[in-house]
Amino acid sequence: MHPKKIDLHIHSRYSDGLLWPRDIVEYAAKRNVCAISITDHDTVAGVDDAIQYGKKSGIEVIPGIEISVSWENRELHFLGYYIDHHHSAIQSFGKMFEIARKQRAEKIVQCLNDLGFVISIDHVLEQAGGSPIGRPHIAEALVEKNCVFSIREAFIKYLGEGKPAYVPKFIVPPAKAIDIIKQAGGLVFLAHPRTAKITESDIQTLADMGMHGIETIHTKHTNRDIAYLQEIAQKYNLLQSGGTDCHGGREGGIILGTLSVPCWFLTAMKTKYGTSST
Ligand code: AMP
Ligand code: FE
Ligand code: FE
Ligand code: ZN
Repeated sequence: MHPKKIDLHIHSRYSDGLLWPRDIVEYAAKRNVCAISITDHDTVAGVDDAIQYGKKSGIEVIPGIEISVSWENRELHFLGYYIDHHHSAIQSFGKMFEIARKQRAEKIVQCLNDLGFVISIDHVLEQAGGSPIGRPHIAEALVEKNCVFSIREAFIKYLGEGKPAYVPKFIVPPAKAIDIIKQAGGLVFLAHPRTAKITESDIQTLADMGMHGIETIHTKHTNRDIAYLQEIAQKYNLLQSGGTDCHGGREGGIILGTLSVPCWFLTAMKTKYGTSST
């Protein structure tokens, strides 16, 4: 019998993932994952569905979100766990981001039109299917219209940072994201610290700002990264989280549940902060 594990970093179709919450719960059950968190970019729209299906399948669902922040010329991502996803602070944040994302998509489409590609915002909205619009939806529209061969090509040539149709997204400072997550009663974790070239002193500063923990286990972390981050977590008395950052197959296969993230990460959150599960 394989030990139970958890996966606390998953994207659904409500942001830029390819699976609906229902499929995510199904994969979790198949892969011996006993607790998940759907951490969509800037939205909690998929959480209620996940909780509902989780209850049916005996999978614990921790309400979550991933919020991008801008800090000293770098983009960092925060994960919020055990948030009250109906709280007005998180709901109005989600609305504000949805509007900002739509305006940004319109600008990107305009840039693409100026480059000679015949794609429309309506087509992009269709790709997003009602979810907050991200660059992957625009990339999909470009593939469908045969402007590029692949999503990867769309990013490399046009949508990636510094490319002709790149438009930065509306982004908040760390203090704002921490405040929103805390207002909604949640715990704040720094997502995939290794991908943002975060130093020990950065982690110390963020902890002083009110961050509760760091994501030590992540698909892009090597074993050395994990060992290093676990040491840092211990040193600064920070909680740990871990997850695959599964986007439902965008990265090749469905990686949900493929990392050995121990259940005690959750127990530690509950013990330290008395968070309740749904
Ligand atoms: P956005 O939040 O709209 O800026 O889009 C960011 C998302 O685009 C990320 O979460 C990834 O899913 C996807 N993405 C970013 N860079 C690439 C890339 N080079 N190739 C494919 N997908 C990418
Ligand atoms: Fe993403
Ligand atoms: Fe991220
Ligand atoms: Zn993510």
